[in-house]
Amino acid sequence: VTALQPANLTNNSSFRGPLQIAWDSTSIGLLKECPRKYFLSIVHGVAPRSESVHLTFGILYHASLEAYDRAKALGASHDAATIEAVRYALVHSWDQRLKKPWISDDKYKNRETLVRSVAWYLDQFATDPMETIILANGKPAVELSFRIESGYYTQDGQPLLLCGHLDRLGRFNDQIWINDRKTTKSQINQDFFEKFSPDNQFSTYAFAGKITYGDQITGLIVDAAQIAVGFTRFQRGVVERTEAFLEEWHAELGYWLGQAESFAARGFWPANDKSCGNYGGCPFRSICSKNPSMRQAWMKGAFTQRMWDPLKNRGDF
Ligand code: SF4
Repeated sequence: VTALQPANLTNNSSFRGPLQIAWDSTSIGLLKECPRKYFLSIVHGVAPRSESVHLTFGILYHASLEAYDRAKALGASHDAATIEAVRYALVHSWDQRLKKPWISDDKYKNRETLVRSVAWYLDQFATDPMETIILANGKPAVELSFRIESGYYTQDGQPLLLCGHLDRLGRFNDQIWINDRKTTKSQINQDFFEKFSPDNQFSTYAFAGKITYGDQITGLIVDAAQIAVGFTRFQRGVVERTEAFLEEWHAELGYWLGQAESFAARGFWPANDKSCGNYGGCPFRSICSKNPSMRQAWMKGAFTQRMWDPLKNRGDF
């Protein structure tokens, strides 16, 4: 893997040379999972040629519900805001260039289940007691981009940043919560919510929320959607993060960021071959299974390049 050609990082504001200086939960999670996977995916932007159906579905689902939140916070009725959300889902799951709908070969995650899930979510939470926070600038607190100092520095004193995006901040029972939406094919039960403790993404969000809003942030509320062929079922759950829990997570973050600098300095990103089968199988298995001398040529043919820049804003914090 060290024989790879350097990626074009000049347009990626989260990097300085081969070292990432702005870290989001995706980058941190990949580094923890397998340093080589992080290197291929984030430093070199190696990506499968076809975009994952789960990624496409997740982006459209979140963005459609965001369209609802924005319209509602600006004074639209529930029905009018729902029409906005469903319209968003329909328009953005239509390929304007090819003049045909998004074709998914996944029987659970496709255009039909997307539109159904958006409409049914909004029906289920039509009288949602959690209200979207309105920020000081008058905008609704949805898809908030955050960028804070991590408290850690490179060897030569450059501050390392923590950044990312929160789905929504909501007020519920006079407390402020980070509201995150998840989709799954699995049944939603207590086990589903328990898998978020510990969880790198939610700890990143809770840490950033606490740094930015202090004790006003009570925790995370997860709206989970079980996407089945014939139905979508929703359940809301609470994910807690105590002060001590977050302190421990932050201390360990320092270790991982130090590891990343050391790997980058040596140009050596070790494989964690105990992670290859996780999450349905690593997409880079076909690379890692080749002899090192064959990998570069294989990657060029079978993969494309998509650079990940966590500093790209989606909203205002
Ligand atoms: S296939 Fe295994 S070793 Fe290779 S990048 Fe993926 S997780 Fe790491």
